[in-house]
Amino acid sequence: MKKFGILLVLVLPAVSIILLFFTTGVSSRPFNADEFSANLSRIWVQPKTIEPVLKNYPFPLLSPAVTIAEGFEAYDGTLHDTPGDFHWAIDYVQTAGGAFLEFPVFSAHDGVVFQGEGNMWGKFVVVKDRSKISQGYNTLYSHLDSIPTRIPFMQFDINGSNGVLLPAGSYIGQASTTGNAKGIPQLHFEFHTVDLKTGATLRGDPYGVYQRLSSGFYPQPGDSLEGLLHYWETDNPFFAGSLPETK
Ligand SMILES: [Zn+2]
Repeated sequence: MKKFGILLVLVLPAVSIILLFFTTGVSSRPFNADEFSANLSRIWVQPKTIEPVLKNYPFPLLSPAVTIAEGFEAYDGTLHDTPGDFHWAIDYVQTAGGAFLEFPVFSAHDGVVFQGEGNMWGKFVVVKDRSKISQGYNTLYSHLDSIPTRIPFMQFDINGSNGVLLPAGSYIGQASTTGNAKGIPQLHFEFHTVDLKTGATLRGDPYGVYQRLSSGFYPQPGDSLEGLLHYWETDNPFFAGSLPETK
């Protein structure tokens, strides 16, 4: 009996620790948005390969007053960022009479949706599309507020978290000033490609423009992406070697 008691005291806790390890593994670490962001790289994406995913996002869904304020790769400085600093996303704003307004944001494609919060991104939403065979996509929408409560919080990482399945065009929040938005309401929009074999996740320019100080080169509301000049075709990549691979 005494032996059995010792067994309970010594062996059971060990077994439960081992079980806990195997059931949750390394992904039991809570999701860290800033760490995830820091580990992403930029990538050259050929717009031909992404157009079916994004369908000219976001202009059919947003007010015609929404414009691109900052392009991919480096800041113009339009939103009080330092010109030339790395920016591997597209920033959208809506202005009226010189003032920046909040505006509603919608998902660009069908997918599994969840929300999170980080120092840089503020409150954000990720839409995960794993419907393709070899390559997956994430779109990320940050500096949001008023995210619907039906969108669950990320638990571990993008691949491990359970979200809700929502169709393209679903309302996912207001473009606002959470995170590092310097008080200017804006949507910081990222497009990620995901290698489904290795899990490698890279940031791409959804419009394939790739030009520094370049928001004027991007499509504006009402513009079609059809026939858009793609900078990478003639100068690829003109800044190779001058930028780090991660930010
Ligand atoms: Zn941004």
